[in-house]
Amino acid sequence: MSEAVNQGAVQTSRMKRARLSPENFLVELHNSLNLDSSHSFAVLVVQLNRSDRISALAQDAAALVVIRQTVERLEPLLKVTDYYCVVAHDEIWILLAELASESVASLAAAGIRAALKPVFTIKRSASVVKTVRMNPVIGVVLIPAGQTDVLEVLHLMDETAVRAKRSDSLICIQKVASDGSVAKRSQLEGELRQALFSNELEVYFQPQVDLRTRRCVSAEALIRWTRQNGRPVNASLIASICEENGLMDQLTRYVLNNVLRTQIGLKGRGIDIKISINLSAGTLADTDFPDMVTQSTQTWGVSPSCLVFEVTEGSLVENEKSALVFMNRLREMGCEISIDDFGTGYSSLAYLKSYPFSELKIDRTFVQGLGEDESSIKLVRVLADLSKTMGLRCVAEGVETEVAHNILYKLGIDLGQGYLYARALPSGEFISWCEKFNKSNTSGKSQQPQVA
Ligand code: C2E
Ligand code: CA
Ligand code: CA
Repeated sequence: MSEAVNQGAVQTSRMKRARLSPENFLVELHNSLNLDSSHSFAVLVVQLNRSDRISALAQDAAALVVIRQTVERLEPLLKVTDYYCVVAHDEIWILLAELASESVASLAAAGIRAALKPVFTIKRSASVVKTVRMNPVIGVVLIPAGQTDVLEVLHLMDETAVRAKRSDSLICIQKVASDGSVAKRSQLEGELRQALFSNELEVYFQPQVDLRTRRCVSAEALIRWTRQNGRPVNASLIASICEENGLMDQLTRYVLNNVLRTQIGLKGRGIDIKISINLSAGTLADTDFPDMVTQSTQTWGVSPSCLVFEVTEGSLVENEKSALVFMNRLREMGCEISIDDFGTGYSSLAYLKSYPFSELKIDRTFVQGLGEDESSIKLVRVLADLSKTMGLRCVAEGVETEVAHNILYKLGIDLGQGYLYARALPSGEFISWCEKFNKSNTSGKSQQPQVA
């Protein structure tokens, strides 16, 4: 990741982050493990690999200044809820609390590496300047919500740092899984595999509405699965199980074919809209995927320009170079690329310049605060202006109220997606909904907000 990425990092707050002693850090880690929270968190082991390792060992004054400069670079990258401690002259531990998603941790690790790479300079005297370089190695331990043993985490921190040292990116990510959750997950994985191969999964469509005309102009395809026992399984969980077990290819193909079939249904009713498909990190490294899209669109007789592929920043961190080639190919074919969940955690602006996006989706955590606090409006305004500056269509997710709709309209956001308009619907229902909804808003003229 480039230095520009670091400079462009969106900082949630500029308040001072909590620096703890190693002992207090372990107490805090213990508390976090026992917290009854639905959020995952992560512990990062940052081994600095300093060029002045020997003088640092000798506690040279200049070497101590380097640590001060290091934390000055680190702190702005952390949120107020995060903690860190300087364990030794060459190692820092960081606890990232309340992760919005696991990819946030990999973004943070990449951001930290980028921040610590530029050379450190220390003035020894009026004429002597010392320079120090770092080549940080970062182990990331992801800790899912629910209780886990501190010792297990410490063990994994060690192991992950060793693995990071051996990897090309110098970053390694490992996840803690308690025995119970591993067992449950593997049973679920078996069922999911079976369901995927016997076409038991469903693809639902959630409308995206033009905020000015109140017409449905696009939709997002979302996976749905109800187990044999009648219990629905969360879509994020389906995606993460597929990713972990090499099933993502099948899932994405399955979704793509359902999207193309739905496009045929929509065209049959004279409805011409784009449909978005979520892509996972692994797919961005799959060089065969664009050819598969070409083949499928030809088979169904649907133009690739009807497709939008959504990627998240987290998935880009893992595949920076291959993702660019991948996206350029899809763009050449006429497909569009959208950056999803924008604004969560450690978002970086440099990505917007580097990749051929045509759409930016503001994460629903920002949209849901609209109407309640002034800061959410300010943040969404920044993201709306950013989209405009970059020439991107801007979609707000999680629009649940008229108040939010009206604020977004006034901020110049293009499209809204959320329960206010409709939840995700099965293909047939979505087509009928779309026809009815657009008939009731036939003028296509700008509709003024109903609430001031
Ligand atoms: P996402 O891509 O951010 O999808 C939007 C999520 O927001 C969906 O959750 C949608 O149901 C939910 N949502 C939409 N409007 C509202 C609203 O007004 N309020 C609230 N509270 N939520 C709203 P869903 O369907 O549970 O999907 C969760 C995540 O699972 C998706 O997040 C996406 O990351 C992943 N996912 C879903 N389908 C697929 C898929 O086919 N492939 C892959 N790779 N990932 C998928
Ligand atoms: Ca999405
Ligand atoms: Ca999203």
